[in-house]
Amino acid sequence: MIEKREFYINGAWVKPSEARDWQVIDPSTEEPCAVISLGSAADADHAVAAAKAAFPAWSATPPAKRREIVARILDQYEARKEEFAHAISMEMGAPIDFALNEQASCLPWHTKNFLRAFDKLEWIKPLGDHAPGAMIALEPIGVVGLITPWNWPVNQIALKAIPAMLAGCTCVLKPSEESPLNAMMFAEFCHDAGVPPGVFNLVNGDGMGVGSRLSEHPDVEMISFTGSTRAGKAISKAAAESLKRVTLELGGKGANLLFADADDKAIERSVKRMMDNTGQSCNAPSRLLVERPVYEATVSKAAALADAIKVGPASQHGNHVGPVVNKRQWEQIQGYIQKGIDEGARLVAGGPGLPEGFNRGFYVKPTIFADVTPGMTIEREEIFGPVLSIIPFETEEEAVKIANDTPYGLTNYVQTTDGARANRLARTLKSGMVEMNGKPRGAGAPFGGVKASGRAREGGHWGLEEFLEVKAISGWDSAVDMAAE
Ligand code: NAD
Repeated sequence: MIEKREFYINGAWVKPSEARDWQVIDPSTEEPCAVISLGSAADADHAVAAAKAAFPAWSATPPAKRREIVARILDQYEARKEEFAHAISMEMGAPIDFALNEQASCLPWHTKNFLRAFDKLEWIKPLGDHAPGAMIALEPIGVVGLITPWNWPVNQIALKAIPAMLAGCTCVLKPSEESPLNAMMFAEFCHDAGVPPGVFNLVNGDGMGVGSRLSEHPDVEMISFTGSTRAGKAISKAAAESLKRVTLELGGKGANLLFADADDKAIERSVKRMMDNTGQSCNAPSRLLVERPVYEATVSKAAALADAIKVGPASQHGNHVGPVVNKRQWEQIQGYIQKGIDEGARLVAGGPGLPEGFNRGFYVKPTIFADVTPGMTIEREEIFGPVLSIIPFETEEEAVKIANDTPYGLTNYVQTTDGARANRLARTLKSGMVEMNGKPRGAGAPFGGVKASGRAREGGHWGLEEFLEVKAISGWDSAVDMAAE
């Protein structure tokens, strides 16, 4: 059993202020795989003090030097990526190949995109020829609190800690208590890369013990949060007193509009995208809206595809799907499946209970409901498990109405070979992102939503901007060479 009870504060691993053990459960076996500590407000305060003390020097470090240090995290990743993927796989249940190729690899992917955007940042520039002496400067916001979930754990850490440090901020990370091991390895990467003491700090803990203290802390200038809409609201309220910046990446209930003219890989792509990561993605296309002429054929094909998905332990190689993260999620998903049945949706694949051959582990059958109607619970609420709802539509207008009638607005998807329709829908669907025909977002494109999905933009240039303040200066003497001072 791994024992990692310490927190990373001011460049060293330190004991928690009071002992409070927490067992990390391997969702494939339901057995504990590690023991960590849950921190308290005192530990959060300790880490914030370290970050505050480190801020003046780090923010004054020349950007090129900050870049050099942060880029060295990539070397640490390269040297230890298998171990890193193993930690993710064990603690949150992603099968090992998926953990390595899709989860762990988010760290170099985002870091490289941030470095590219960083190189183009203009830290100070003239407002324009119309206003001589007027300058616009970018400055790091200060100490930032980073609160992350378990479902794409490294993805979220990379999307927050890397731009925060590049921008010149110092930070305190509170990773999810469900997936702390990869976060602790990330702290080791920072340490070994030579990130100065206090610039990156990590305190494990739960939302109430550490997350809420960071959210209200007067010395924390910003909270960058990814997780549930519930916690996003609680954080916003706690942060209001100190008027800190709060950026929120929350849940989703993506619509996927499949038209009769979609290409012949569209159904397969749509089912796979839903079931990947065992449905635990905020941008999962969980509502498949299908044009009536191809509806029944799509339902049959999707059901056959779901039936063919293999479920298995995270430690096993292959392209199967793993368990969901914990008992609470498993029970919640089972509740939604039952609700779907009770409210009259047609179960065409999967269903309640453990998949055949399993008597332990938080495994869920890849499940599909057809004849889902707008307003059913499984159509409204984010299930966060491998459960797809299929809904028929007659016209494009009706499809748009159903797609947009949700509290969420993260990613919507379109499957059509009609370019004019694709472009039209790209503008009418209400979401932070729209993905056509399986084309992935471009490198450095911003990830984020609207409405109850939160309004943050993470990744690339926009993701760096979140950690910067914009200062307007007038009367700048451009005859003085700042570099000479
Ligand atoms: P969660 O909101 O319960 O927890 C997320 C993090 O917030 C954890 O670190 C947790 O300890 C902390 N937290 C919980 N309550 C808090 C509080 N009151 N104050 C401060 N911190 C608090 O969510 P989860 O179960 O870990 O993750 C699943 C949810 O996250 C889903 O709704 C999913 O859609 C969402 N999510 C969104 C994105 C996105 O980018 N939009 C990405 C991943 C996950």
